[in-house]
Formats: sequence, structure tokens, C-alpha cells
Amino acid sequence: MHVSTQYQVQDFKIGLTFDDVLLAPKFSDIRSRKEVSTDTLFTRKVRLNIPIVSANMDTVTEATMAIALARLGGIGVVHRFLSIEDEVAEVTKVKRSEGIVIEDPITLTAEHTVQEAKNIIKKHNIGGIVIIDQERKVLGLVTRRDIELEDNGSIKLVHVMTPRSRLVTAPPGISIEEAKQILFKNKVEKLPIVDAENRLLGLITAKDILKRKQFPLATKDDKGRLRVAAAVGVRGDFMQRAQRLLDADADIIVIDIAHGHSFHCIEAIKAIKKEFGDVEVIAGNVATSEGTTDLIKAGADAVKVGVGPGSICITRLVTGFGVPQLTAIIESSKVAEDYGVPIIADGGIRHPGDVTKAIAAGASSVMIGSLFAGTEESPGPTVLRNGIRYKLTRGMASLTATIDRRLRESSYTDSRENELVEEAIEETVPEGVEGLIPYKGRVEEVVKQLVGGLRSGMSYCGAHNLKDLKLKAQFIRITEAGYRESLPHDIERVA
Ligand code: IMP
Repeated sequence: MHVSTQYQVQDFKIGLTFDDVLLAPKFSDIRSRKEVSTDTLFTRKVRLNIPIVSANMDTVTEATMAIALARLGGIGVVHRFLSIEDEVAEVTKVKRSEGIVIEDPITLTAEHTVQEAKNIIKKHNIGGIVIIDQERKVLGLVTRRDIELEDNGSIKLVHVMTPRSRLVTAPPGISIEEAKQILFKNKVEKLPIVDAENRLLGLITAKDILKRKQFPLATKDDKGRLRVAAAVGVRGDFMQRAQRLLDADADIIVIDIAHGHSFHCIEAIKAIKKEFGDVEVIAGNVATSEGTTDLIKAGADAVKVGVGPGSICITRLVTGFGVPQLTAIIESSKVAEDYGVPIIADGGIRHPGDVTKAIAAGASSVMIGSLFAGTEESPGPTVLRNGIRYKLTRGMASLTATIDRRLRESSYTDSRENELVEEAIEETVPEGVEGLIPYKGRVEEVVKQLVGGLRSGMSYCGAHNLKDLKLKAQFIRITEAGYRESLPHDIERVA
């Protein structure tokens, strides 16, 4: 019997990605790259000043990366391959990093010791601790400086703190300008906010006020704190995780699953929306217009697009599935636009020009993994190999990530560790790899290149803002020879 295939070869759609295309230059009335705006939507309600997002991977985004990106005007998504407590702690670090008023400052009692204060200061990376009694009445303040040189860790804080009588405080409702004046006049760095009964209501720090000036583009919530997104899965304790993350004031929940166009993902969006109401939810990943539509209909406030483009991803090789990223962005954006829902282009960004292409194709922001994994702010130490500094990056579906996850999720004893590792090796079909990535210094430098490239790209297009870029962009498909021509050629490159 003759079995015919469903499709004829001529029915195949063509899928293109970043290197397959270029943008044709357009008339430009832009005089300087500085005059273009890169302001964008991350979700229906949350705006960013730069369209750059760090990926929810365990070698990319924890608090340090999220803080750095939010300061620059982007945002980080804290990964979910942590216990609930640890993920919540990362979110809390971001939210505490620079509010105008820290509403729930870290406190100790006068009976705690210097060593306990040192531990807390180190753990939370803060400059000082307010000392209170059982009724939250302020007794004093201990700063890093007060205890740093104190070798005797068992001394009680009552002996080293600046007592209440010498403390400068302020009443609730004080403006930033007034707070600034008080801090400056009294040459102090911390200003506890107390009510008429001397109860602690908050803390303003000089460092936070200075940072406001230093990072004018920062992504902030309405209390002046940096914004942060946090990832959850779609099974097990994901609702409890979402609840705890929201309790810690995470701004956005990201439902993170490799195949987002699925029953589990859609149910998870609905459940989170139903339970937590007003929360902004990002869902993904998908790579088609149907996938995008279904997630939006389920309630997603932004859709993450990308199946298989990631630098550490082998999904396409292992499963045969995926869509070249530019086509995925174009098709998803077309339908998402009708609903007013932004698209996040996730994975495969290798050059600054790819950011311009992704946005021109319809994305509102781009999510970046390995380009950021080599920076100072990514989790994990640098490693030396043949005299060169590297950091590690790995797919979240790589074998080692899977083993680590299984070990974390099972309350194993040492004797079971080998058994669990063997089980994981036996049962896992990895869809990601791990590798070393050259150390790149601070993430700010990488972001500068990406945003600088985008701004230049906008000026080549005559686009004053990202909406303009989408409207005016004209892609041309190039050949292999055209691609070769795009690369530096026929020189001995020295820089
Ligand atoms: P990159 O910027 O090219 O490194 O891509 C980062 C993206 O790759 C992430 O945001 C994920 O969507 C995706 N990704 C992360 N881990 C894996 C994996 O193990 N397999 C497939 N894709 C992955």
C-alpha cells in the first residue's frame, strides 16, 4: 500500500533566523544616537527603558544580575532551580537593594552579638542594622564600620551601637529632598523613620538616594524599589512558590517551561491568574502564532518566544522540533499585537545587531542567557583554564542541571547520592549542554554594546523609538555569500 506524506516539499514553510537577514538602511533624520528612545513594554503593564532581560537560568540570573539590569533600565528573571526559600531570598535582595524608604529594614536587638550582626550584614549585603526592642522601638543603630574592626564577636550590640540619643531620625511621610538635606547636614548615611512613639517604620539610606541619581533609567516599582521577575514551573509546588514570590513583592511571575504550548502551561496561567488576580504573568516558551494565541487567551501578559535558538540548547537536535528564531518572532508578534501583548524574544542573541533585528521583527524585548553568563554579576565563580578566565554556562535541561535539580528536590542522604545521580543519568535525555564562556567583566559593558548597537540600528532606520523601528524596518534575506561579506574579511584581525 502506498502511504503518502501529509505535505509536499513545496508546502514547507521557510524559517529564517538572524543571520539569514539584514535590515535595509532608510532615510534618517536622527542627528545623534542619543536622541532615540528605547522605552518598551515588558508585559502589558510593566515598562522598561531598555529592552534587555536576563534569562531565568542558574548561571545567569540571581539577585546580583537582577539588580544590575534593573539599574540599567532592563530587568532580570530570577531562575527557579532553587528551593522556594532561596528564590524568595533572591527576590527580597533585589527589592531591598534601593527603595526610597526600606519599609521593613533588617533589625536586631541590643542583646544580639557583633558576630551575628556581621553575619547578617554580609548575608544581605547591607551597610547597617537598626537595633530595636520587642515593641519595635528604636534603641540604636549599628553600621558596618562600627563592627568591622571589632575582633571579639561575642560583644553585645548594646556596647557598639550608636544609641538612640545620638541618632538622627525622621518622621513618616518625609520627602526625598528633605531626607537628603538631613543626611547631608548631619553627615550620616542612615535615617531611620520613626513614629511619635519612637517605633521603627522604615529606613532611608544615603546610598539609595545617590543611586537614584546614578541610575536615572532604572526599572522601579511605585515605591521606588527595583523591579524583578521570578520564575515558577507548572507542576508540584508552583502555586506555593508563586504565592511566596508575590508575598516577597516579585513584580512579575514567569511561567517557565520548555514546551509552553501545552496543557500544563495553559492551566498554570489560568490558576495563577485566578488565585492572585492582578499579577502580571509571562508564559512560554512558544514558537508559533497558535502557541502565542493560546497563551494570551489563557491570560498571559507577555509571551516568551523561542524554541531551540539558545546557545546551550540542543532541543532541535534531540527532538527535531523548533522554529528559526526570526520567523518565530515575526509570527508570534503578528498575533500578539492584536491583543496588545508584548513578545519577549528569548535565545539566540549573539551580536548587538540581533537585538535590533528581534525588535524590528516585532519583539518588545529580548532575553539573554549566555552573553550574560560570562559577566561578573552572573552566579558562580570564574575558572582559570590555560591562563584565561571563564565562567560556566549551562542549559537548564542539561544533564548536570537535571542532576542538581533531582538532588535538591529529594531529601537525599549522602549514601543515596550516587544512586540518584545514576538514576538521573539513566533516565535523562538532555536538551541542553554546558560549557565555558570567556569572562567579560561587568554586565554593564555588555549591555552598553547591545543598547549602543540598537541605538545605531535605529538611526540607520530613521526610527525615533522602538515602535517606529517595527513600522519602518525592511528585512532583506541574504545569501551565504552576503553573510560572509557581513563578517570582517581579508584581513589579519588584531582587535
Ligand atoms: P542564549 O541567550 O542564546 O544563551 O539563550 C538563552 C535561552 O535558552 C534561555 O532563556 C532559555 O529559553 C533557553 N534555554 C535554557 N536552557 C536550555 C536548555 O537546556 N535547553 C534548551 N533551551 C534552553
